[in-house]
Amino acid sequence: MNATNDTLMNIRDDLVVSLDYTLKVDGAVIDRSENGEPIQFIQGQGHVIPGLERQLYGMTIGESKLLVIPPAEGYGVVDDNAYANIPRSQFPSDIPLELGVALQLRDQRGEVLNATIEEINQEAVRLNFNHPLAGKELIFTVKVVDLREATQEEMDHGHVHHPDDEDEDWDGEEEEDE
Ligand SMILES: [Zn+2]
Repeated sequence: MNATNDTLMNIRDDLVVSLDYTLKVDGAVIDRSENGEPIQFIQGQGHVIPGLERQLYGMTIGESKLLVIPPAEGYGVVDDNAYANIPRSQFPSDIPLELGVALQLRDQRGEVLNATIEEINQEAVRLNFNHPLAGKELIFTVKVVDLREATQEEMDHGHVHHPDDEDEDWDGEEEEDE
């Protein structure tokens, strides 16, 4: 790796991107990278939402941008079919019956589904299975902190390795997304 080249790098596939970001939805900051701790990911592997990844191409180290991501390239549009009415008598008694409460259910195949309570009436509880950010425009303020080539090992594993982890042989199974 050559320091002189690094400063001329533009974001492209297979580069490790270190990114500071702030995410605003409906005018409020809902997520941001920790101060001094940019997120790191390999560009082109779908580790960040599609619209963000797409709009990062070509950016250089030190560059900042305001990126507007439409719902379809963010957390999706609202699916009018992703709702279900559960009779109140069948609603689990250990879950608080309040609007906006998030819960997890299992479908017939055992897959976990996330839902929020959308409406409560005398007979039924209406659940919304859309992602809470579905239908929302995402406003990212990003700054590219660093760029480097992903190592062969990182490409093989499909994730970024940190210098501190050097002597660990991550298989990726136990690693949580940052
Ligand atoms: Zn690994």
